[in-house]
Amino acid sequence: MEVFKSYRIPVEAPKDLVEGYFTIKKKALEVILSHVKISRKAHLEFKSEARRELRDELSRSWRFSKHYVDSAINSVIGLVKGWMTLYNRGKAGSKPEITKRTVYIKNTLFSFRNGVLKISIEPNKRYLEVELTKYSWIPKDFDKIGGLLMTEKELVITVKKEVELRADGWSSFDVNLANITAFIDGKIEWYYLRGLYHIHRTYEIKRRKIQKLAKLKPKTSKKLLEKYSRREGNRAKDFMHKLTTRITRKLKEKNFGAILENLRGIKGRILNDSKDMNRRLSKWNARTFQSMLEYKLKWFGLDVKYVNPRRSSKTCPLCSGSMASYGGRSMKCEECGLLINRDIVAVLNLQMWGSRYGFTPKALNELIEREELSNESIHIIT
Ligand SMILES: [Zn+2]
Repeated sequence: MEVFKSYRIPVEAPKDLVEGYFTIKKKALEVILSHVKISRKAHLEFKSEARRELRDELSRSWRFSKHYVDSAINSVIGLVKGWMTLYNRGKAGSKPEITKRTVYIKNTLFSFRNGVLKISIEPNKRYLEVELTKYSWIPKDFDKIGGLLMTEKELVITVKKEVELRADGWSSFDVNLANITAFIDGKIEWYYLRGLYHIHRTYEIKRRKIQKLAKLKPKTSKKLLEKYSRREGNRAKDFMHKLTTRITRKLKEKNFGAILENLRGIKGRILNDSKDMNRRLSKWNARTFQSMLEYKLKWFGLDVKYVNPRRSSKTCPLCSGSMASYGGRSMKCEECGLLINRDIVAVLNLQMWGSRYGFTPKALNELIEREELSNESIHIIT
């Protein structure tokens, strides 16, 4: 399968191109919206002749490479189609607008040789050159570069390669608010998320203070809120990046794939309650951790699978009996009496349910009897 990774790198984008592209996108939107017919449902009647006409009109005063005009038209068509889909479901707000100065650079507009990305600005005379080798964190083992996105200050590069997914064994991960519990190669490991929680708490407090100011200075407080939520997001993502990179390195050594909870199955039940900060954070933790780990593992050809986590922390990993809370984070099996930490219950069940080579309850019993799961063998990682 084809796997990809995206990276942001700072560039000094040609302002005239960014501005020009923004202008033709706005013009294209106006024209394309006039081709949207709304009877009972919205649909686009934008035939090739109309498209050619628009292309010619936009090209007339366009001194940059011509492919940018096509790319602008395509991106506007995508935007309008996205809006129509929402409209037809009764979920669209006002008509779409072009608000972002983002240039989509398709592969006909750049070349990549000897580590240098050469982007055509004006045909045969003006280029933007980016030396990718300067950015050590961008992998060198990719097959090709997908499309590029350019904003005023940065370039988003997507690298792609073809891999065959495999796994010599499986690990499992259960993401909670305060920790990620992992089962890797017969051992339970805990990755604490205290640092991450602290980041969110800090910004939550800042936000509350700003919201008190909102009535007096609405504009300033709006700007501040945006600035802080951007910083919060960046710091939180940075935390998750470091963690998932560390775990990926470990799994790569063992050639292990990962079993994760399929959160789609429990959407709306627990995860959608966005009023509660802790639940919102749990959801963010899980989604961010999973998507980062997945694309990092797949880049190395390591497989990732999702299992339905229903009752994963309430089912006894030994006898499949029902487990009930037994004070604190402990769970006790109502059938066989097994007393065990609830995060461990969840991760062992994920491992068994998701793994073809998973241990049987008997093997798990032996594992516990051998005290493999006693406190000493539990790795505490902070
Ligand atoms: Zn039991």
